[in-house]
Amino acid sequence: MSQEKVVVITTLILGCWAIFIIAWERIAPYRKGLPFFREGFWTDLVWYTIIQSYFLKILIFDYIIGPVQKSFDWSGIQFVAHWPVAVQVLFFLVTHDLYIYLFHRFQHSSKFFWRTHEAHHSGKQIDFLSGSRSHIVEIIINQTIEFAPIIILGADPVVIPIKAMLDAMFGMFIHANISVKLGKLKYFLNSPELHLWHHANYREVFHANFSTKFSIWDYLFGTVYDPGFAPGNEPENWGLHYDYPKDYFLQHAFSVKRFDEKKMLRYSWFRKYYKLRPLLANSIVRLLSRRRDRRPQEVSSHIVNG
Ligand SMILES: [Zn+2]
Ligand SMILES: [Zn+2]
Repeated sequence: MSQEKVVVITTLILGCWAIFIIAWERIAPYRKGLPFFREGFWTDLVWYTIIQSYFLKILIFDYIIGPVQKSFDWSGIQFVAHWPVAVQVLFFLVTHDLYIYLFHRFQHSSKFFWRTHEAHHSGKQIDFLSGSRSHIVEIIINQTIEFAPIIILGADPVVIPIKAMLDAMFGMFIHANISVKLGKLKYFLNSPELHLWHHANYREVFHANFSTKFSIWDYLFGTVYDPGFAPGNEPENWGLHYDYPKDYFLQHAFSVKRFDEKKMLRYSWFRKYYKLRPLLANSIVRLLSRRRDRRPQEVSSHIVNG
């Protein structure tokens, strides 16, 4: 099957998976009362999921992996080329997941690399979309290390969209606000039960539950935290213990230079920028509500005309 066809199929599966997870969050919520349009929803959807992903895909594939692939003859090490596609997917799934575990653990122990990861921990209301909030540098490192070997080692091109789909599916699942117990499977597969604790603001979990897809790494390396109960429901029980900007660009600026948003408001240029986002959001909401108000008139005019 061509890569284009697989992209269409994996996108459809992903759409269905998103609907399924959103419905599951409504039926069996881990934290009750979490709104669908929770704090940071639009930042995560528009900036991280759509805009950042779009540009990073071009950067990573066309400007990093592409030139690396073309500058050497990799034919001598393409040992996966003759494996069945399912085995290739499994191989890259497991090896990359181990890498992610180790790098994630390193990010929590290094002051410098923590700055590339704190954005992911900044949300206080965690749901299926929260996994998308990842610092630009973190994505460049992780996705280059994820996809470069797939291309260089000669895997079937369809492995890329399949792997990307599995990443997104697991990302949605482990962050989803769903109360689910995997039973014995939890020793092998990661779930919200373990990963939501990783997003909680408790000293006990700051160096625990680093796994992404396979929780087995946490059990193997002794970094699992599974007390059998959920974290508290107060805002201070979640996210970071320090103030963190809510805006996409300020979040990235904050990783380079620490600043106090409130103190920065004394500068007029900052004030203008700071107020731009809520201003735009309010205008969009106003525009949408005006259209909604107009709809019954449109319907009645159709009736008159009809
Ligand atoms: Zn983390
Ligand atoms: Zn997470």
